[in-house]
Amino acid sequence: MEYPTRNHPSSFHQQTIVYPVISRRSRGISIGINVSPTKRCTFGCVYCQIHVDRTKNAKELALLSPTIDLGQLRRELLATVDSAVSGRLFEEKRFGATRSDYRRLNDFAFSGDGEPTLAPQFPEVVDILRSIRRELALPQVKLILITNSTTLREERTIAGCDALTAENGEIWAKLDGGTEADYREMNRSEVPFSTILENLRFASRRWPVKLQTMLLRLGGRAPDNRWIDCYCAAVREILGAGGTFRSIQLYTVARPPAHGCCTPLDDGEMDAYAAKIAEETSLPTEVFYSK
Ligand code: SF4
Repeated sequence: MEYPTRNHPSSFHQQTIVYPVISRRSRGISIGINVSPTKRCTFGCVYCQIHVDRTKNAKELALLSPTIDLGQLRRELLATVDSAVSGRLFEEKRFGATRSDYRRLNDFAFSGDGEPTLAPQFPEVVDILRSIRRELALPQVKLILITNSTTLREERTIAGCDALTAENGEIWAKLDGGTEADYREMNRSEVPFSTILENLRFASRRWPVKLQTMLLRLGGRAPDNRWIDCYCAAVREILGAGGTFRSIQLYTVARPPAHGCCTPLDDGEMDAYAAKIAEETSLPTEVFYSK
């Protein structure tokens, strides 16, 4: 599950699994864990650069193993935490301009080049993150799963999410539309919209969940009143079924645009959508602008 608003290179030194980013959403250092060497995903979001890359390199990716070296993950994570906590990270050119209040380690986040819950080792990786968090005595560090919401009722995902949320964990789950047609236009998936809603009903009753929603101009069209009304109705329907969300994160495409047909909304538009969605759902909204 890509960090959709980031413009962060997902590589650090020679590391291939673990990479630090200064994250606006985390308001600090987020250490990304990329468990998707084959870039596998059940979505093909219109705004996703990874999807474009995956489509272009499908033959090469098919030859790769979907598993990662868990020993390597451990080594890379320990080295990255050490660099962040010691402050050495900020001696590097890329991180030198980090503002002082963001020079804190906030989380380990499943993110990267595909949907992390599809990774065959997802539950094992959760265990490694938990054990490193304990070994290094980092109780303030959150464990975050950024997911496209397609597998949330599958047995392996449930096991991984139960373990993750037992240890200061949080799920950031995608909902990019309020109707089958709106969802398909944005996420271009074979997974039925009803499955996404059912998964979110389930997850939001069981775990701490933040919703993540992309708002953009698609082919020149910004979300209209009907789009927003349907989206809010879908969220209310989940809440009415007993779900709760900590907040709704609203973001728009960051530079450079992932796809020619997608362009960002400006800050004023984002603020107006956030106010309307907060009013219609009675949930707090967090806005992440394009710059
Ligand atoms: S969920 Fe969408 S944005 Fe995330 S990796 Fe899959 S296609 Fe890309």
